[in-house]
Amino acid sequence: MVESSKIKVSIIKMDDYNDSTVTAQKVAEAIDAAGGLPEKFCPSTKVLIKPNMLTAKTPEFAATTHPEIVRAIIKYLRNFGITDITVGDSPAGTFSWDELWDKTGFAKLAEEEKVKLIPFENVKRLNVNNMTIPMLRELDDFDAVISVPKLKTHMLTKITGAVKNSYGLMPGNAKSNFHGDYPSPRKMATFIAQIFGIRKPDFIVMDAVFSMEGEGPSSGEPVNTGLLFAGIDAAAVDACACAAYGYTPLDIPLLVIVGKLGYGVIDMDKIEMTGDGVQKLMALNAKKSISDMLHRFPEPIFKLSTYFLSCRPYIMPEKCRNCGLCAEACSQKAICKAKNNKRFTVKNRGRCILCMCCVESCPFHAIKLINPGMKLKRIFDFIKGLFHKTT
Ligand code: SF4
Ligand code: SF4
Repeated sequence: MVESSKIKVSIIKMDDYNDSTVTAQKVAEAIDAAGGLPEKFCPSTKVLIKPNMLTAKTPEFAATTHPEIVRAIIKYLRNFGITDITVGDSPAGTFSWDELWDKTGFAKLAEEEKVKLIPFENVKRLNVNNMTIPMLRELDDFDAVISVPKLKTHMLTKITGAVKNSYGLMPGNAKSNFHGDYPSPRKMATFIAQIFGIRKPDFIVMDAVFSMEGEGPSSGEPVNTGLLFAGIDAAAVDACACAAYGYTPLDIPLLVIVGKLGYGVIDMDKIEMTGDGVQKLMALNAKKSISDMLHRFPEPIFKLSTYFLSCRPYIMPEKCRNCGLCAEACSQKAICKAKNNKRFTVKNRGRCILCMCCVESCPFHAIKLINPGMKLKRIFDFIKGLFHKTT
């Protein structure tokens, strides 16, 4: 029998995270349907599990990987005889590690499953293509990395999934600084592709049971897409998953660059989708980010277009506690106190590169994205309010 040379991506239906036994079965089914763990996995393998812990939000927001998916992977690895398991990530926000672990549910998971939970904060500097890249110092301590991304929209990269999850191997706030160095979607995508190439994950299980639609990666709405993805090729997993938003892999610059660099397969003719969720995926129509249209403009006028279209963060005064963490997180110094010195605002709008670091860093969820439609609605509501007062 001739073996298929296609890269397998399994797509398995899963409704919710409520039953840990069902979740464990579904995750095992997804891993097995994708061909199982690669040969390098054996009982003595030291495994790093890298979920997406973008920000200190509870799992219901769908901004972070659900801990039950990670629990199911831990169980699968234990059944495989693997005992040395570590879980970790490095969000760019300014909340404490304890707050992050607690809110995302990973503190409880680590305690119950007795796995190590490590903050990615120690840096080793690598020279890559004449650039100095700060990467997780402990990365070489692990024999294998399992990436467990969350499927979400993203203002800069359109979607964030398996490839972008590797960007979290760069500890802490270095990530926001690089946003400043690469202030356009294409430049940032090229940089992220290079980071991805430094240490590609050995296996991927993507949480798309609840995904994020709209203004991801942290301000969008959860949507029950009801799927799990698994495979050995992160780009191939993303190439399939982007269909949830009506994209093809060629619509996603990051995937195109990763494909060109030879870091993964994005040609759908070379990918075999398998599992009971394939048809469901093709029927999904999750909402894209409003930034989608901005990507159609030529790069030189991207900043100009974002300025005029006013697609940028807005600090909600009723929720803001004036802590200033967003201003610290902004590499472009676009956020500062208003002249009356009363509260922080996104003052230098022309500087904003839509990196979303402020949104991710606000512990009070006081920053949302606004677009012209929302602005017009606020003006309309204001006029309507005046009208009501006078009648
Ligand atoms: S928007 Fe959030 S992070 Fe910024 S000052 Fe207000 S509360 Fe702090
Ligand atoms: S205002 Fe927010 S989104 Fe804009 S550049 Fe600063 S941190 Fe990034």
